[in-house]
Amino acid sequence: MIGDNQTMYASYPLVVGVDLGGTQIRAAVLQGATLLSRANLLTGDNGTPERVIPRLFQAVDQALADARLTPAQIAGIGIAAPGPLNNRTGVVISPPNLPGWTDIPLRDIFAEHYQLPIYLENDANAAGLGEHLFGAGRGSNEMVYLTISTGIGGGVITNGKILEGIAGAAGELGHITVDWRGEPCGCGNVGCLEGLASGTGIARRVLAAIARGEGEELLRFARQQQPGLHVDEELRVDARLVAQAATAGVPLAQQILGEASEALGVGLVNIIHIFNPELIVLGGGLMQMGAQLLAPARAIVQQRAMQVPREMARIVLAELGPNVGLVGAGALIYYNQM
Ligand SMILES: [Zn+2]
Repeated sequence: MIGDNQTMYASYPLVVGVDLGGTQIRAAVLQGATLLSRANLLTGDNGTPERVIPRLFQAVDQALADARLTPAQIAGIGIAAPGPLNNRTGVVISPPNLPGWTDIPLRDIFAEHYQLPIYLENDANAAGLGEHLFGAGRGSNEMVYLTISTGIGGGVITNGKILEGIAGAAGELGHITVDWRGEPCGCGNVGCLEGLASGTGIARRVLAAIARGEGEELLRFARQQQPGLHVDEELRVDARLVAQAATAGVPLAQQILGEASEALGVGLVNIIHIFNPELIVLGGGLMQMGAQLLAPARAIVQQRAMQVPREMARIVLAELGPNVGLVGAGALIYYNQM
């Protein structure tokens, strides 16, 4: 049994949450935010729907078997998948990190297989819903969730509901412009928040500086951190290393991390001005940097955001941790059925 809040959620029906990612497939039986069982599988290098969908079924079946349940005993299956997708038609459209997935009617494929209510939502919206129902956002009505990891995703809760937009594409907060003369982003825009403040964005900017010959000190630091490395092996430069280098006083790392947290601050100002939220919940692996990333961003919010919405907006860290995707996927059933 995973989790310790089971009595708190005893009135919640049993559900299955599925978290489909570019590298991992995870499924869990949940009651509220409590995980009763969990199954992890790799998405695999050849992540085509023909290969991945049977693995999704396998993960669900394994989670059900581990919890000694049959599909008939659960209220439904919620699936969190990378966008873009259409949550109304249940179709995965063409996620960049799932090659070969073009217009896949995943909800109907699951419904036919399990004969259960199935809900499909993009992963950031599902995670935001999870935090809203069971995490840092409990009791809030106007909440914005921002997840900062390899990419940046957003989920907006307004009047207690997920803000969908006309095509289910609202809340793409990783792709708001924070530098209108900035670098091109894979989404087609330039100067996106994701390009500056995500783990991938930070690493890419550091590697570009190294390629320009500005990385001598950072490389020396990196080699100290990765001592076993053979000369011709590639150094791993990721956001964690950059954060460590910044703490150790390496100027290039401090500069790029400083720009990342500045971009995050500008993004938060935009979010405050557009949504007037009572709560902004920050999740994702990069928030483990904590104050290193967040303190300069908060300072920008203080300097630049309009007073009334700024004073209403509490900025807090997410509470659900690495299980947020599964809890959010399961929460789709409570959200849609209760
Ligand atoms: Zn973008």
